[in-house]
Formats: sequence, C-alpha cells, structure tokens
Amino acid sequence: MTCSIDTRCVQAGYVPTNGEPRQVPIVQSTTFKYDSSDAMGRLFDLEDSGYFYTRLQNPTNDHVAAKIASLEGGCAAMLTSSGQAANFFAVFNLAACGDHVVASSTIYGGTFNLLAHTLRKMGIECSFVSPFCTPEELDAAFRPTTKCVFGETLANPALTVLDIEKFARAAHDHGVPLIVDNTFPTPVNCRPIEWGADIVTHSTTKYMDGHGAAVGGAIVDAGRFDWMAHADAFPGLTRPDDSYHGVVYAERFGRQGAFITKATTQLMRDFGSIQSPQNAFLLNLGLESLHVRMARHCANGRALAELLAGSGQVARVNYPSLPGDPSFELAQKYLPGGSCGVVSCELAGGRPAAERFMAALKIFAIETHVADARSCCLHPASSTHRQMTDEELAHAGIGAGMVRLSCGIEGTEDLLADVRQALDAI
Ligand code: PLP
Repeated sequence: MTCSIDTRCVQAGYVPTNGEPRQVPIVQSTTFKYDSSDAMGRLFDLEDSGYFYTRLQNPTNDHVAAKIASLEGGCAAMLTSSGQAANFFAVFNLAACGDHVVASSTIYGGTFNLLAHTLRKMGIECSFVSPFCTPEELDAAFRPTTKCVFGETLANPALTVLDIEKFARAAHDHGVPLIVDNTFPTPVNCRPIEWGADIVTHSTTKYMDGHGAAVGGAIVDAGRFDWMAHADAFPGLTRPDDSYHGVVYAERFGRQGAFITKATTQLMRDFGSIQSPQNAFLLNLGLESLHVRMARHCANGRALAELLAGSGQVARVNYPSLPGDPSFELAQKYLPGGSCGVVSCELAGGRPAAERFMAALKIFAIETHVADARSCCLHPASSTHRQMTDEELAHAGIGAGMVRLSCGIEGTEDLLADVRQALDAI
C-alpha cells in the first residue's frame, strides 16, 4: 500500500510484528552477540546483514533512516551525527584527492567552509556558481575531475531556491550525480529526487527533529545513478575496495545499495560519525509530526513576510513564497505547498535599527539556531558574521541591518504582534 506523506511521517520505517514494541525501540547497545565467530565473520564479509558494532550501524538508526528514505522517495538512507557529517560523507563518498566539485554559491556557511577550505586541504577543489547562473555558465564550471554537483533546495540563510532540474541536467550531462541538501523545505514541501537529484542530505537538527533537542544528519540515495556506466570516474564504487576484502560495491550491491553501503562500511568505519540511538529516537518523535508542523511554520513565515513587506521600517524582505522575491517563480515550481518558516529582512535604519529591533522582540529569542518549534532570531552582523566590517558584509550580501527570523509553531497573531511592537520600538 502506498500511503500519503502524512501517514509515512507517522508510520514508515518501523513495522512491529506481533507483540513487539509499538514505538521504535532504543537499542542502547554498542555491540551485538553472536553464537560463533563464523556467524560474525559472515557479517564482516558483508555476506549476511546484521549488526556488530554501533559505530557502523544500529537498529534504531536504521528504522529512522528507513522512514527518511521513504519520505524522500529514496531506496536507502543512513543517519549521521550532524548535518555537517552528512554533507561531508555525501561528497567524500564520491570525490578523492585530485577531484573537483561544483556547488551553488548560496549554501549554508558551514557547508561553504567544508567545500571551500577543509576539502581543499584534502586535495578536493570546489568551484562555486550562482544558483541563478545560465546553463552555459554552469557547464563551464565543470572539469574532467568533477565528481558531483552540490546545492541546497532552499539556501540557508540566502533563501534562494535551487533550480533542481537545471542542476541535475548539467550534472548528468557530465556523468556525475547531483547532491541536494533538503534541510529547509523537508520532504513535506519538496522531494528533490522527483526533480532529478541523486543524493539528498539533511541537517535533521532543524525541522525534522523540530524541537531543538538533537543534533543529527541524514543521507538518502535515490538509487538511480549508474555507477558502472561511469566506472572510471568512480573507482571507489566500481573497483575492489582493498580496505574491505576487495568488495566492489556497485557490483555486489547494485545501484540501490552501493552508495549507502560504501558510506557505512568505509566512511562510518573510519570517521565514526554515527548518530546516537537516543538522538535517532528523538528524531523519530519529531518526524511523526513533521507534516503538521511544517504547515504551521510555513503559514507563520508567510504571514510574517507579508507584515514585514508592508512596513516602512523594512527596506527588503527575503522570502521565496512572496511575490516579487527573486526566487518566487522557482518557489512556485518546486515549493508550491509552502517553503519554510525562515524569513530574513533588511531594516531601513541599518545596524542600530536591527539592534533595537532584536532587543525589543519578546517571543523570538536570540539564538544561532533556526527551524524548530520555538521562534528565534539572529542578527548576523553582530553574531555569526561579527568579525566582518560593514563593507565586507555588503560584499557577502549581508547588510548590517539584516535580521533572520525563524518562525516556530506558536500562534500566528502572537508572532505578528511581537514583531509589530519591536518595529515600533525602533
Ligand atoms: N545544511 C544546512 C542547510 C544547514 O542549515 C545546516 C546548519 O544550520 C547544516 C547543513 C549543518 O547541520 P548541523 O548543524 O546539523 O551539523
């Protein structure tokens, strides 16, 4: 039976049999017991499937990963300790020293650092392109060593919408997969695999957990990319893995299993960034109400964007579901049911106005976090981007008067009243 995404948010991934716990059990065990060394050996040889050590896999995590795979329309998934780990694993599972990545320039700052600086130290270079680039400009960014294309469906904090079909077409024309970070819309509002993405990543820390309780990440494989058709480009998947008994992942596990199996047996084994089963349990509680919460986040975000757009104190509002936004057309196509609860705006009075506005807000708390049940706000110029001068901020597209507001799921009128009184206080 194919159920709606609402039902899958609640029930997918874990189907208890007669007499088993109704809720996903937390398997709080580092290790698993076997009757013989031979039985365990077969697990190490990947001949039998099962669990032997929670650094690689744990049943609680696998139930929750299966739910996320179902929500995204993928065929396999894994949980990681954070969104950063998910994006690192997704890229590093494909690219090695000497390789190259093409990425959208409007991505989360942590992911930008990972691609621009840390991966460079590992010999992997990244070229950044505007999400609004022409197909020709995108094409020109590729090199013979390019191994993947990366973008965010809805960028944090720029709130630009990725033209997934354009990026997928370019990636596939060059024989490489498209990785899309779908953290902000969540699969409730957009499923990038339906538009051509091959790998989807998440910071589950945001809306998926939704309560500011557990840092985590996820990687989902669409299972469509034909590694064997591009065997020379992806030797890690198509040639024997000397570190794992010479297994050839694409041959042994096929299109549907190769990517996640390699990321688990090789990267999770060596980097050990697994999500704790406790956090996976909390994540699952969040997923059970994701479809209900996203509707309220989006309604609050839209109402706030409209209020800000009508205020004389506000010079500019970024919200892709708002007519006139640079991403409005793309949002209509990729996010017709709503985008997210995050809105950013530039206050006409610049830095002093932003500081007074932030100080006056009562329900929106000052946090570096976004995208959970409680509303919060951030003034990038005096926090995450504090070290930059106003000139440098302008170059980075962040005005000194910019405020990022993340609408939670509180009452819409309460949030609007809070923002109105804070605008008056400027
Ligand atoms: N991807 C996006 C779009 C994010 O917004 C973030 C964090 O804000 C990350 C990835 C990194 O996730 P985490 O903080 O869970 O490591």
